[in-house]
Amino acid sequence: MYVDGQWVEATGGERFEVLNPATGETVAQVPDARAEDVTAAVEAAARAFPAWAARTALERGQILLRMEQLILQRRDELARLITLENGKPFEEARREVTFAAGYFRWFAEEARRVYGAIVPPPVPQKRLWVLHQPIGVVAAITPWNFPATMISRKAAPALAAGCTVVLKPASATPLTALALAAVAHEAGMPPGVFNVVTGRRSGAIARVFLEHPAVRKIGFTGSTDVGKELMAGAAAGLKRVSFELGGNAPFIVFDDADLQAAAEGAAAIKFLRVAGQSCICANRVYVQESVADRFLPLFVEQVRRLKVAPGFEPGAQIGPLINRATLEKVHELVESAVKEGARVVTGGQRLTEGALGRGLFYAPTVLTQVREEMAVAREEIFGPVAPVMTFRDEEEVVRRANDTRFGLAAYFYTRDLRRAIRVAEALEYGMIGVNDASGYSHEIPFGGFKESGLGREGGREGIHEYLEVKSVSLVL
Ligand code: NAP
Repeated sequence: MYVDGQWVEATGGERFEVLNPATGETVAQVPDARAEDVTAAVEAAARAFPAWAARTALERGQILLRMEQLILQRRDELARLITLENGKPFEEARREVTFAAGYFRWFAEEARRVYGAIVPPPVPQKRLWVLHQPIGVVAAITPWNFPATMISRKAAPALAAGCTVVLKPASATPLTALALAAVAHEAGMPPGVFNVVTGRRSGAIARVFLEHPAVRKIGFTGSTDVGKELMAGAAAGLKRVSFELGGNAPFIVFDDADLQAAAEGAAAIKFLRVAGQSCICANRVYVQESVADRFLPLFVEQVRRLKVAPGFEPGAQIGPLINRATLEKVHELVESAVKEGARVVTGGQRLTEGALGRGLFYAPTVLTQVREEMAVAREEIFGPVAPVMTFRDEEEVVRRANDTRFGLAAYFYTRDLRRAIRVAEALEYGMIGVNDASGYSHEIPFGGFKESGLGREGGREGIHEYLEVKSVSLVL
């Protein structure tokens, strides 16, 4: 683990194994932190905070820019680690590394634009101004699906703002996090400013974050249930929280859409992001009745072309699911939908032929005759399964799309400008793609409505999650 600028073992000397989900083989063993290791990291971060906060934004930004450069120089090495521990195809992992690096640049630049305000006073003898100051020690907990981006989207704004960070990555993907710590070290990050603790006892680790008075903010990406637990735990110390949680993204195809573009977009945003294991993946596809017969074959053709293979195989597009529980959950959702009347158009089973037999591969699946009340349409699937439903008109589909406790991402395809504006405004989601299923960019905020989260990452907003607001009033 990386604590206070040093590489350390867990105090008890315990380790746990990191597995390759494409082969079941052990990739490495990493330290299994105890509570006292986490406390040591938090205290190192607390000691490092005043000096780091006192540096200029320009100085902090220079270190972050060096991190960006080092990550890009080591893109293949980092991508290899991601493919080994997460399973995603190597080319997809390379794109992730490039994107993750971009957050260090974006927030290095944003740090210089954290403007305060000088405010006109209500009485002549007063002067008023508003400052933004770093919150303090930030604890970050990240998931396995984007082992680099989920870290950089939290660590980069926190560090740029002048906070210090203790990161606990997912126990499935700790190697990328440790490699990023090595990058931070080489970029000249002072000891204690960025710390990484690895461990399987996530509840016990989180308890230290929630109870230690030095931790002022918890940044979490993961499931909605764990987010709720953390929020309840953070209440005792009234710690700030920001959460990126689950989604149930609708993907709507209107009758005036470019159907080929919509079919390609739906296949990309459903399947080509970690085999459907991403919170912004399309979870429900809605097609207007009048074009359903034309859209479906175009979509199925895209899906049948996808290459499922171990991540290092050239041309691989869909890798394995992260673990057996996920594979089983995905298959159960398909089976229960079929029992309730859904039809499998393609896929619908685990793939075990040849090299696939060693890993946790599931066939890209399209279901039709799906009904809204089926679990596959209500729950986050987190796997390569696309339930397709039809709708009659705009009002109906907007109502059905919004009828969920989630509100992260939504997509729709139309060529009608007025409809584009109406529907974008009516969908209760934090991120809307209009004829755009290519994901998001550093420049705009990422986050959700309702039970999909609190706060935003990225964009101009991202750095403010790590800043306190201070008002100063002076009598002349
Ligand atoms: P998860 O079980 O909530 O795990 C996420 C992180 O939380 C991991 O580091 C995990 O550690 C840790 N954790 C697990 N239980 C915990 C507990 N009781 N207290 C504190 N930390 C705990 O989520 P997941 O199943 O790995 O990830 C999938 C979920 O994340 C999906 O719902 C997905 O939509 C969501 N997600 C959201 C976004 C977004 O930006 N909105 C992005 C990616 C993923 P261990 O690994 O050791 O269990």
